Amino acid sequence: MSNLLQIKKILAKYNKIPKKSLGQNFLVDLGVAKRTAEACAPPVFAREASVLEIGPGLGILTRELCQLFKKVTAVEIDKAFEPVLKETLGDLHNLDIVFNDILETDLNNLLERSGQIKKIYICANLPYYITTPVILKLVKSPVKFDGITVMVQKEAADKLCSKAGEKNYNAAAAIINYYGTAEKIFGVNQSSFYPQPKVLSSVIKITPREIPLANPQNEALTYKVIEAAFSQRRKTLANAISSGLNLKKEEAADIVKKVTGRENIRGEELDVKAFSDISNLISFIN
Ligand code: SAM
Repeated sequence: MSNLLQIKKILAKYNKIPKKSLGQNFLVDLGVAKRTAEACAPPVFAREASVLEIGPGLGILTRELCQLFKKVTAVEIDKAFEPVLKETLGDLHNLDIVFNDILETDLNNLLERSGQIKKIYICANLPYYITTPVILKLVKSPVKFDGITVMVQKEAADKLCSKAGEKNYNAAAAIINYYGTAEKIFGVNQSSFYPQPKVLSSVIKITPREIPLANPQNEALTYKVIEAAFSQRRKTLANAISSGLNLKKEEAADIVKKVTGRENIRGEELDVKAFSDISNLISFIN
């Protein structure tokens, strides 16, 4: 029986109709699930590592992760999947499933459940409606993940993997760049899912930096500067941070000039090092 038939059968058995509002497009292509799981970490690391999966759904990717990693913790918002997951993954002994909203989940508490495991990775076929908030939560977290491998819409992947000065560059890409390097690993066709989404997907991998690209005195302020810079793209950076952070216009202009050598530069031209240098001067003033 094909995976698609199996998935339709199990959904029918538990009377489940995929919820669009929760981004429930299930993988039916086992090859894509395997490739995604394998992209997370080299096998020698995975055998000793823990992985956090966001949104196990019916468990196709979860099973692959359980075969590679020492421990898998999966967080699923939809409690209606509990009996389904018991049937599809009940035989796996290195799996812990938590029914909760990932955006409301304390990652520290969650990972304490994994025990004393040195390396911790993230893997997910992300629900598309919360792609950016989830990734930002992960990269801003005090828990330092050893790698984040996620399937997202292709258009989101293009943005998240972009660099300063490129067309798609946005606040999330700048914040991700502080944490690590983001790259597209492979593309995924609509026919790999049930129900089929309207758009193509891509698997991206974010690898943390060993040597930080910037040294902000206040990380949270750097994130605020980045968010202010991109929230009003038509404004110059000085005007955007002056209104976004309640700074006097002259102060903002002075700081931007000190860091970039230009007064009229726009946020999308700057990398995270420049944003961090700007935030360091703001903390100095305040
Ligand atoms: N991993 C499965 C697969 O590849 O077939 C399912 C992926 S599906 C795109 C996204 C999954 O995330 C669904 O199971 C959905 O219920 C779950 N989900 C949606 N919002 C969530 C949230 N806020 N927290 C945790 N899980 C969520």
